[in-house]
Amino acid sequence: MKTFLILFAFVASSSSAFAQGSHGGNGGDIRRFRAARARSVFVHALSNMVEASHGCDLSPWNPNKVLLADAFKLYQWGSRTKIRWTDMRQSQCLVMQFRPADVLLTFSYASCPLPTPKNFYVQAIAAQFFKQFYPDQNPAQVFEDFRTILGGAKASHCLHESDIHAIPAPQTYKPTSFTNQLNAISILEAGRSFARRILSTIVPDKNGGAFNQYQFTQPINSFLVRSKKTFDQEVNTERFIVNDDDTASCSVTSTTLGAPIYFSTKKCVDFQTDADVAWVILHETTHHFGIDAETFADGVATEIMNIDDGFLVEPTNTHPTCLWGMNGSCTQSAE
Ligand SMILES: [Zn+2]
Repeated sequence: MKTFLILFAFVASSSSAFAQGSHGGNGGDIRRFRAARARSVFVHALSNMVEASHGCDLSPWNPNKVLLADAFKLYQWGSRTKIRWTDMRQSQCLVMQFRPADVLLTFSYASCPLPTPKNFYVQAIAAQFFKQFYPDQNPAQVFEDFRTILGGAKASHCLHESDIHAIPAPQTYKPTSFTNQLNAISILEAGRSFARRILSTIVPDKNGGAFNQYQFTQPINSFLVRSKKTFDQEVNTERFIVNDDDTASCSVTSTTLGAPIYFSTKKCVDFQTDADVAWVILHETTHHFGIDAETFADGVATEIMNIDDGFLVEPTNTHPTCLWGMNGSCTQSAE
């Protein structure tokens, strides 16, 4: 009887841990990566524009100064964008909603393309965003002007070396080779190496344990301060299992340390680079720390990956400090 009770308790607890732990649904969907990174790239580009509007003489290649005049306002709204994913079908992959305190970007699993064309999400966000600010102008043209300004700022060396990733030029999309299990394993190992390389560059600051020099947002900084050592070990040692199942998402794992990560050759069709794979590994590894929240796992992966690009999502300290505040009381000329 005693044995039975113990066995029963074990089965009951382990099955409930599995039910809670496995995060199914669309969690490890590569499109989340594309959208989260695109948001970072876009906000970063807007912060570059603020910088350009401060210190650069852009007249030679910027006859249209509308965008630059609005740089600060655009940046303030851009940095308030929040991402949400829904299972509902909607008219477009991205629907943007301006609210009093933020901008909600709602993406739809049912409506966003998979595989994703290169730079699809950057352009989708930019097009929707500019349409709100310049309803009378062709969004594609505004986007082109935007790129021209950033390109010009770069050419005049008035942006920092680390700012060169503003808006990537469109590139031809190449289909992935994540289709057979042998290829898949070597692609995953390349992704792991990539993730390890980035993680190894993240070191505590002099005051012991904080990572503020990387401009992580507060909750993610706290998480890394608490968990970075274990996180590194986890990425080094965790097991990847590849299957051909037509699962709900590209990858899945459970919320316990040491849990394997499952990848589907049917669903991971959007892996284009080892950075893509690294992002998914970082996302799933975050779940191993008992974290269910998809948005938080996306945030950890994205903020870590942003280090590799040498860019900071938020403005550098050459900007007015009031840029950090969201109360709108600050003007562009404040220093
Ligand atoms: Zn997830």
